[in-house]
Amino acid sequence: MIRPEKIHPVFDCTDCELHKNAKQPVWGRGPKRPFFMLVGEGPGPMEDSAGYPFHPKAPAGELIKDILDELGVPRKDIYLTNATRCFKDKDKITVEHIKACKKYLLEEIRYVKPEWIVIAGNEALKALLGHEGITKDRGRVIIKDGQKYFPIIHPAAALPFRTPEYRKVIKEDLRHLVGRIKNKNVSVLDSLDCKIADDRAKLHILIDELKNLPEDTVICSDFETSNVLTPFHNIVPVVSGMSLAWGPDGGWYIPTDHKNPSVWDKNPEGYELAKKIIRKYAYMKFRKIGQNIKYEQHWMRGMFGVRIKYVWGDTMMLSHLLNPVRGIHGLDKLAWFVKMGGYEQELEEWFAQNLAKEDNS
Ligand code: SF4
Repeated sequence: MIRPEKIHPVFDCTDCELHKNAKQPVWGRGPKRPFFMLVGEGPGPMEDSAGYPFHPKAPAGELIKDILDELGVPRKDIYLTNATRCFKDKDKITVEHIKACKKYLLEEIRYVKPEWIVIAGNEALKALLGHEGITKDRGRVIIKDGQKYFPIIHPAAALPFRTPEYRKVIKEDLRHLVGRIKNKNVSVLDSLDCKIADDRAKLHILIDELKNLPEDTVICSDFETSNVLTPFHNIVPVVSGMSLAWGPDGGWYIPTDHKNPSVWDKNPEGYELAKKIIRKYAYMKFRKIGQNIKYEQHWMRGMFGVRIKYVWGDTMMLSHLLNPVRGIHGLDKLAWFVKMGGYEQELEEWFAQNLAKEDNS
């Protein structure tokens, strides 16, 4: 365990007005070269009295401890700290507070040398990466100046009186990270923000992101489609899922009619919401580019009774135009043009490793 005085020569700080509310500055705690460093917003009243961050009996500290327990990561292996060191009481943490306290956070990072820094919430995101938008950045690896960051929603946001659905999102994000750290498996896919909207909380995050996009945004999509034969021998078109991306750093996947088992088996409301988003997408005024979108129009019409509007392009048709002699124009082949080629192999390796572990457990 690192003693704070080893890192910080100054113990009484008055560099911002937050010190007026605080009993003491709350310095970080944990081992050098930890499993990961977790950076939160600032100390609460219990931490202010106890003198260390994420007190295990304080609401957010308890929640993060429980999640770490469930993931099999000892809390003592994590270095816990905050973007600001003094209790804010009724004040709101401002950019000035974050800037004033950043020097201490950087000292800690230099001394502790974490391979991974988990950024919990917008204040830590502002301190370390200089921007906000945690719901957009959460759950993906960001590598900046050689340091690996992994943003998550702050545990305080998942408390019962706020948005309890976020607990599952935080746990799944951390499960993802813990798996990567244990497998030492950082690849091209790690630098992407690939999210699956497989519960209502994530669907709402996706809705918020879509609502905040300007209308001239170019969105790329790919639909997974299949047919179902009914007992009356009718063939019914089914959209089993849809992927969406509007930037080079990642995207979303919305599962709908996947079976065996479906993610929605116990969540019919989530299933209806997922279908509603896909149906509404047909009318959204974005510039839409799809992989074989002319073909997918039939499935959208068959399943939802709509046509996709505002279509800007079709990557499969463009590939045919650019290279008519090539026999195959699937996404796995086009991926080589954007340095993503071979992603199926990485996925297969990931499945092999993870399924083998599940079989052995
Ligand atoms: S929050 Fe940080 S910068 Fe502000 S007084 Fe406390 S220790 Fe100093």
